[in-house]
Parts: sequence; structure tokens; C-alpha cells
Amino acid sequence: MEKPARYIGGEWNSIVKERADVRFALLFPDVYEIGMSHLGSRILYHVLNDEEGVACERAFAPWPDMERALTEENERLFSLETKRPLGEFDVLGFSLLYEMCYTNILQMLELSGVPLRAAGRGENDPLVICGGPCACNPEPIAPFMDAVLIGDGEEMALELVRAVKRAKAEGRSKRELLEELSALRGVYVPSLKTAETKIVRRIVRDLDKTPFTGEPIVPYLGIVHDRVALEVMRGCTRGCRFCQAGYIYRPVRERKSETVMELARQQVSCTGYDEVSLLSLSTGDYSEVHKLVPQIIREMQAGRVSVALPSLRVDSVLANDLSVMQTVRKAGLTFAPEAGTQRLRDVINKNVTEDDIMRAAADAFEAGWNGVKLYFMIGLPTETDEDVLGIAELARKISARFYAMPKEKRGRGLRMTVSVSTFVPKPFTAFQWCAQVAPDEIRRRQELLRGAIKGVRGAELKCHYSDLSVLEAAFSRGDGTLADVLESAYRLGCRFDAWTEHFRPDAWEKAFAEHGVRAADYAERAYALDAPLPWDFVDMLVTKQYLLREWERAQRGETTPDCREKCNGCFGARYETDCRVS
Ligand code: SF4
Repeated sequence: MEKPARYIGGEWNSIVKERADVRFALLFPDVYEIGMSHLGSRILYHVLNDEEGVACERAFAPWPDMERALTEENERLFSLETKRPLGEFDVLGFSLLYEMCYTNILQMLELSGVPLRAAGRGENDPLVICGGPCACNPEPIAPFMDAVLIGDGEEMALELVRAVKRAKAEGRSKRELLEELSALRGVYVPSLKTAETKIVRRIVRDLDKTPFTGEPIVPYLGIVHDRVALEVMRGCTRGCRFCQAGYIYRPVRERKSETVMELARQQVSCTGYDEVSLLSLSTGDYSEVHKLVPQIIREMQAGRVSVALPSLRVDSVLANDLSVMQTVRKAGLTFAPEAGTQRLRDVINKNVTEDDIMRAAADAFEAGWNGVKLYFMIGLPTETDEDVLGIAELARKISARFYAMPKEKRGRGLRMTVSVSTFVPKPFTAFQWCAQVAPDEIRRRQELLRGAIKGVRGAELKCHYSDLSVLEAAFSRGDGTLADVLESAYRLGCRFDAWTEHFRPDAWEKAFAEHGVRAADYAERAYALDAPLPWDFVDMLVTKQYLLREWERAQRGETTPDCREKCNGCFGARYETDCRVS
């Protein structure tokens, strides 16, 4: 094996239970280094193992060298903890973080000897379930799943294993178990779907009292996020109209700063990590940020532990705090204006002005930085050439600001990365009805930008585009037909599609053709506002009327305030959830 540590288990803090009433395999359909960096899986590993009689173990998608070895040796895919073949578990639970890992789910099932489709499984096969952000449009993956968990998993996963335990003890059939599961809030059982099915997303209300990762596993090999990760807040109040996470994790729920401090101490001491990071969608908006950040930096630094703030806006108050600035210096300075003109930033509700960006850049340059990263998207709804050229214009202004400073006051040369991705319309956003811009037009806009940014001193343009964006758009807004396409693509050898070196556009094209459709039919499709959507039967709490209102406001270029300032009523009148954080 290229990296045996991906499969051997035995890591510090991993949990091995020889006896258990219910065996749950937590499966991540990508390689170990990515899966072990996923905080949600770490939380569930702890929550499930903390339950009496439940053993939760892990497995990750085997890299091609391991897949080859398993096939040649006629061995089954196994868990890291006890090396038990996955087919012997009671439950196989997949985390769905991005659509382009779907073929790996089929690979893992097949290597486990478990029939791919739920309809083909018998009483002795494990219950196959999934959850995670992609589950909010379950249809492209539904035929492969016995149940889909929609929303926060902590409580739902426990209710599910308790139901499995009871069903086993009472000798009930799988069908009876699925009927019981389908009555749980947030659980979708595809085989029991009717025209009336409505799945309401599950949330944990009090994040502060919700269990966290316990004693986290320390891997033997470097993983993507190799540090203690502390979730300070779930949800985001900013309401960027393209952002699925911003809508589907509402309302904002926070952990108290004392709890975060407590967790930081406990997790550092039981892992030996020398770095902690404060995670959320937008840590700068955490209501106790000004209290927590200086405190945690001070205390952690005393123990030679550094603090990373990956999603922190460098606002003026924090910028005045030297200890914070030093931390940010290490992490690098990033801005995400997302669009090049104010008009388009208003359309997407990115409530940030050019003045904000210029001021933050100027502050940073004066504090001695010379590296900055800017994130944009191309292909956003209503985008024109002027908006594309606006990206280069903004980069030019930032560069001019840097070089206008006296040489002795600024860093040596500016290093500005302008990173441009392609817009992908996502379900449960204000742009869910929009078509994705066709690949040729995206390439033309990229070239336009490339030409315009050429003379900008210190700027480096990085355009991320491949046919992958089209597939991502197709699967994120797809229907049940795509399940058949997915299986064909898997049979044609597609695996690890998110990895450039493994992505096979030719095989995908063939798979779509086998079913008489094209990826573009899905990606470039604009839905009529009153047309039924494949994900309409899922209720993510933010109402469709609210998304519609946001879409209409976007058309008029009207912004919607951050809901910490004013409740915008995104849950409608049906829910009593108090989404405001005092
Ligand atoms: S700030 Fe905007 S893009 Fe970032 S998580 Fe919040 S809504 Fe999404």
C-alpha cells in the first residue's frame, strides 16, 4: 500500500469494543486523510461509542491500490477498529459532504459484499443509511439507501441505534424496523415514500449542551486538518444567496465561550496536539468572539499551543488586537468578495462594500502583510462582462494601494492570489431555480478575466474549472434518474471523482448517454418558479416562500440584512424556533 496507515487503525484514542449489541460502521466515502478531518464524523463517533451496547467503528474509501489488493485477494472491506468485514455490521452510515464522492459509496458497498440497491438487500444485510449536507436532496442517492438522515445527526443517530437494538432483541423484520424509523423526525425511508411524504429537518437546539468529540483520535499520518477542531457555532446569519450552508444550518446556535475554553483544555491534554482551530461558517460573527479569541490565544500560547482562526473576518476591533493579528498572519489573510462589482455583490447579498475590502487590505498592508487571497465566483446569476472585469479592477486597486505605500513601510513584493471558482446552483438557496452557465461561456469569461488581470502587479489568477462543476450541478439538483446514471458511471470505473487525476469525464458522458440524458440537461436547467422540485418533499425549515422572496429581491438588487440585526422571518410562521442569538 502507498499509505498503510490509512487502514491499520489502532490510533491514539480510537475505541475498540469487543462486545456490542449494535455495531455501527461510520463510513466516509473519500480517503482517510479527508475523512478523518471531518468534524461531524468525529462527533458521531464519540456520541455513538458513548452509548451503552453500541460499538462505532470507521472505514474510508480505499485508494485504488487498496481496492486492487482487496479484489485480487478476494477480501472484504473492513473496519479500522476490529478489522471486521463491513457486511457483518448492523448499520453502515455514510457521511455525504459533496456530490462527487457518490461513486465511492457504491465502491465501498460492493467491496463489502453488500447489494448496492436497498431493494436488493435481505434481512441479513446491514441497514445502509446516510446523512450530511448533500442529503438535503436525497433523490440521486435514495435507491441505494435504507434510510436518509436529514439535519443534525447527534440525536437522530442515537434514536436510530436504539431502534435497531430493540428490533434485534425482539427479532423484528427489517420492514418493521424501517416503519419505526420513518416515524422519527428527520428520517427519510425511500422505500416507504408516498405522495404525502414530508421530511422535516432535525436540529439540535442547544449546541452548548450537545456532546462534542470526546477524546479525539490522533492519526498516524498527516491529515488535511491535523489539529484540535472546536466548533464554536453552527449556522450563519449573513444570508449570502448562493450559499447552501448558510440556509440549511439555520438557526445560528452557539457554544458558550467557557464551554469552548473547557473543550480546548480537555482536547489538547488528551491528544497532545499543538494547534487548535475555532470552527464555524463565520467565526468573526460568533457573539463572544472578542472575549474568546484573546483568552484562548493567551492561555494556549502559555502551553505553546497555537490557535487557528480559519473563517475569521479581519474586522477593525480584532485587527487592533496584536495577538489576533499575529495568529492571522500565520494563517494568511483571505477575503471572499465573491463578485467583482457592487451590483453583483448586492444580487448575491454579500453585504461587503469595496470600501470594506480596501480598508481591510490597507490595515493589513500597514501591519506588514504582503500576502492576500481573494475568492470570487464566475457564472453567478445576472453576471455580465462588466462584473467579470470588475474582479480584475478590484485586484488592480488593491495592488495600487499596496505599491502606493513607501517602500520601507510595506512588505517586499505583493503576493495576491485571485482564486475564481464556478457557480453551482444548490437546492434550498435563493438561486435553486437558476441555470448554471454553460462550460464554453464560463471559459470565455475566464479568458476575459485572464486578459484583464494580466498587467496587475503581484496578482496571480487561479481559475478552477472543469467538467466537474457541471456534474456537481447535475447531482446537487438531480432526481432519481441520476441514481441509474451513478450506478452506470461506477460500473464504468468512476471513483474518486473529486480528484483531478481520477476524474473520467468520458466515462461519465457514457454513463449519462446510457440513460438518454446529459449532465447539461440538469446543470443548465432553469426551473420555473412554480415548478415542483425534486427536493420539495424535504422541509429544511427555511420556507420556499422565503427563498422565493430572496430570489425576487436579488433580481431587484436589494440586499437583506444580517439576521442578527433583524429577524427576516425565514422559517415563516410555522415554527416556534427562536432563531436569534442574544
Ligand atoms: S457568510 Fe455567506 S458564504 Fe459565508 S457561510 Fe455565511 S451565508 Fe455562507
